[in-house]
Amino acid sequence: MLFLDQIELIKYYEIIIMKLSHLANSRILDQPTYQPGKPIEVVADQYGFRIDEVCKLASNENPWGASPNAIEAGKKALENVHRYPEGSGSTLRKKIANLHGLTSEQFILGNGSNEVIELLGHVFMQPGDEIILGEHAFVVYKLVSLLMGATPVAVEMPGLRHDLEKMRDAITEKTKLIFLPSPNNPTGTCNSEDEIYSFVRSLPEHVIFCLDEAYAEYSQDPPDLKPLIAEGRKVIGLRTFSKIHGLAGLRIGYGYGSPEMIDLLQLSRQPFNLNSIALASASAALDDEDWVSQCRRRNAAGLVQVETGCKKMDLEIIPSRANFLLIKVGQGQKVFESLQERGIISRPMPPSLGQYIRLSIGTEEENDRSLEALNVSLCN
Ligand SMILES: *Cc1c(COP(=O)(O)O)cnc(C)c1O
Repeated sequence: MLFLDQIELIKYYEIIIMKLSHLANSRILDQPTYQPGKPIEVVADQYGFRIDEVCKLASNENPWGASPNAIEAGKKALENVHRYPEGSGSTLRKKIANLHGLTSEQFILGNGSNEVIELLGHVFMQPGDEIILGEHAFVVYKLVSLLMGATPVAVEMPGLRHDLEKMRDAITEKTKLIFLPSPNNPTGTCNSEDEIYSFVRSLPEHVIFCLDEAYAEYSQDPPDLKPLIAEGRKVIGLRTFSKIHGLAGLRIGYGYGSPEMIDLLQLSRQPFNLNSIALASASAALDDEDWVSQCRRRNAAGLVQVETGCKKMDLEIIPSRANFLLIKVGQGQKVFESLQERGIISRPMPPSLGQYIRLSIGTEEENDRSLEALNVSLCN
């Protein structure tokens, strides 16, 4: 019978023809993928909205955009786009170093701070190594650990906050790196400077500590890693231009630590990992301190606005020091979909936080719209 013959034939081909996936690194086949926030265009298309009718509050972007000076500097850099960028971004590193009161050898730029997380993986993670992270921490630490064949060790987060004692208890002789985002995404929770200092000072010699400070600029007085670097602790701090500086689309961030730490990371970097437009815009963004403090103030007001709105609806929120809120809505996925039908893109959470959605702080008008849509969605 012809039908059976075809099946036989397919089986035969599968044996003699080596599938491409058979040639892949065995780890890559099990690699989970990152789920980004939905783009405005996709939702507009799907639900028949105009682009300007959709509010994207899904990726913790700056709703007021980048500093006009940063945009201008980027446009200007475009004129020289036929030239390769400055390899390690030394001009920008010098400027950042001055701001932090450190030297430029203590900084490495990345294509987003996510690239620096990946470089940490290349330099330090090996199969068998254990990487300690919070169960509700920013997901990229786990993704990079798995990609490098290391073992992510997820530590419980009572009250959705990183518990540094539990994290210390999870340390074994195989532990290589510990990641602490403060404020954490998606919970918005923080750890204090004192807490971080005594935690780091208690770490054994074979453990590296990474403080992810993606939202540090939204706090008045974020924890300062400098004293720990000065003491010779094995620490690295991560910052990004994607959040308060509003340059998420350009992909630029940085890591800082001891010159020894940065030298190692520089070895694993591609020669031109940053583009010239990002370098120029980031530099101008740093110069525009007014823009940053304005965005910080507006975000603080937006947090109060959304928190107040949520309380009126009897919704529990997790207090946040960042530019987003984790809101307990009951059935997270359902509310996410209902908001989306109303032109509001929020972020659905994984099953472990299934009762929540994450909502970025938008402009005052966007916050009003998202609260109104949330009210309708909850009644449905
Ligand atoms: C947004 C975010 C980053 C920044 O990523 P980029 O690659 O710089 O855009 C890093 N860490 C956390 C916790 C974040 O939420």
